[in-house]
Amino acid sequence: MEIVVSCMDRRLNNALDLMNNGKQIFVRNAGGNVAGVEQTLRYLVESNNIREIKLVAHTDCGAMGYVFGALNGKESESLHSELVKQFKGLKLASRLELEKNNELVQKSKLESMFAGKGISISSTLIESKPSEPKRHIAAITNTSSTKYAELAKKLGVDANDCYFMQANSIEELLPDITLAIEKLGIREFLLVAEEQSQYRQKNAELERLRARGLTSKASFSLARL
Ligand SMILES: [Zn+2]
Repeated sequence: MEIVVSCMDRRLNNALDLMNNGKQIFVRNAGGNVAGVEQTLRYLVESNNIREIKLVAHTDCGAMGYVFGALNGKESESLHSELVKQFKGLKLASRLELEKNNELVQKSKLESMFAGKGISISSTLIESKPSEPKRHIAAITNTSSTKYAELAKKLGVDANDCYFMQANSIEELLPDITLAIEKLGIREFLLVAEEQSQYRQKNAELERLRARGLTSKASFSLARL
């Protein structure tokens, strides 16, 4: 099996589906931030025979746009300090340079996390075209091998309009959810239970989002497939 770590951006869904031959487990958050999903990645490596991990970064990345702003004092660093701190001290002339740097930073984090485990680590930077501002939705799921076109169809949404956030606990995705609300304007989140065994987990996660006050900033609903 392979792991693919990628940004949650909806424009990557199609490219990721093309990579998907049923042997990949997908993990996604804002910017493809490896440190943010470290627990999930370590669990996947311990419990599956993982031979390869691919990192997918992209251009016109909203998360990197935010980081670039934070590095230049134009955005609040506290919104996602764990992401911003990885780029502090770097001299970056442009957002594109930051996006290219992100690919390298995330790849080297994977290399240091899984050194000596015989796992091949690779990375790619996909070009995403800027799009007209529009309100999008986000689906939050556990890591999975399901194609996004299929998930979107089951959810009754357009895959081109849907961000996918994937980790095995909601806590790992909290700063990414906040960033999606504050910076991407996402107001509708679906907590997706792909399997019956996840119903209880997703219900509990919804309660924890409520306790943290996030449900007053955006709508969160459970989707059982
Ligand atoms: Zn992105």
